[in-house]
Amino acid sequence: MIPYGRQDIQQQDIEAVLEVLRSDFLTQGPVVPRFEQAVAEKTGATHALAVNSATSALHIACLALGLGEGDRLWTSPVTFVASANCGLYCGAKVDFVDIDPRTYNLCPEALESKLEQAKQEGRLPKVVVAVHLCGQPCDMQAIHALAQRYGFRVIEDASHAIGGKYQDEYIGNCRYSDITIFSFHPVKIITTAEGGMALTNDDQLAQRMNLLRSHGVTRDPELMTHEADGPWYYQQVDLGFNYRMTELQAALGVSQLERLDDYVAQRNALAERYDNLLAELPVTTPWQHPDSYSGRHLYVIRLKLDIVGVSHRQAFESLREQGIGVNLHYIPVHTQPYYQAMGFQPDDFPEAQRYYAEAISLPLYPTMSTAQQDEVVSALQQALEVA
Ligand SMILES: *Cc1c(COP(=O)(O)O)cnc(C)c1O
Repeated sequence: MIPYGRQDIQQQDIEAVLEVLRSDFLTQGPVVPRFEQAVAEKTGATHALAVNSATSALHIACLALGLGEGDRLWTSPVTFVASANCGLYCGAKVDFVDIDPRTYNLCPEALESKLEQAKQEGRLPKVVVAVHLCGQPCDMQAIHALAQRYGFRVIEDASHAIGGKYQDEYIGNCRYSDITIFSFHPVKIITTAEGGMALTNDDQLAQRMNLLRSHGVTRDPELMTHEADGPWYYQQVDLGFNYRMTELQAALGVSQLERLDDYVAQRNALAERYDNLLAELPVTTPWQHPDSYSGRHLYVIRLKLDIVGVSHRQAFESLREQGIGVNLHYIPVHTQPYYQAMGFQPDDFPEAQRYYAEAISLPLYPTMSTAQQDEVVSALQQALEVA
């Protein structure tokens, strides 16, 4: 089976993790700050806070922005459930904005008209989570302008997008957002096994997220409500969690980060090769906005079902039967049973539904060979019965 994604672990990664195992600290040592520093330097953000997953990062990002009961969080329906669930964790209501038919990202025009209506009804969101699907950045300049006009905060869910660029600058610099989050799950661009990070240029947000990821407990006299009882003293000043990243994970992250630009370049080279190989097939290849240098976490094609002789499901099954580990990213979140129970209807977001009816993620990872890629393409030809 050719998987849809696969981590790349090299000798230097193994040695970096072993070194931590032989050291004094397995957690709360010097390597997590080193990883944070390296990601901050790479992306240009002022603060980077490592946590145990992107889901945790989304949760503390929402809390730091003050999201709570009675508030609203909006995101794209075409994303992993975590982009929306973070709102529910905080007691907020979640709603969605339909996708752009070309980029499959949250559509700024749809956002604007929904905001206008929400304003009249007094139901404006407090937070919008902009998901950079497949690694392609959202139209952040437009979303930022709307945030200024309608007074909401912006989180970039860049789980797919580390190493990519928007307007020639690394994603993660938070130029057009309050907080950006990354995921280091093994299928993503770089991995720490499990792991995530929240980046921000705002000192207050960084301080708040730092407390929230570790029980709301501090040893910093400046954050305490009254003077320390003695040198042993710590205070709980907020209700936080244990969302800490371990030293083992951070060591893997530091080592992986050194190859980030190579990974993204390899992913882009393979994606462009797919574009060429698939040009004659009845599929839509991923359109790229000129402002975007995508991390290319996923390569999603859409079947032109009006001219293909097989159904979406038949094509998908045929690929799996031929040993191609295709996948579907994502089942629109609002159609999940948990969200349906809140009253969402499948056709609330028609572009997302159309996408779901046609999309297939083809295998793509930096160590994929061109021979494997050719195998995927001929299996696809076979599946679409155009061979
Ligand atoms: C993977 C992913 C997440 C969650 O990442 P974890 O690190 O597994 O918690 C969130 N959002 C998107 C878009 C993702 O792809």
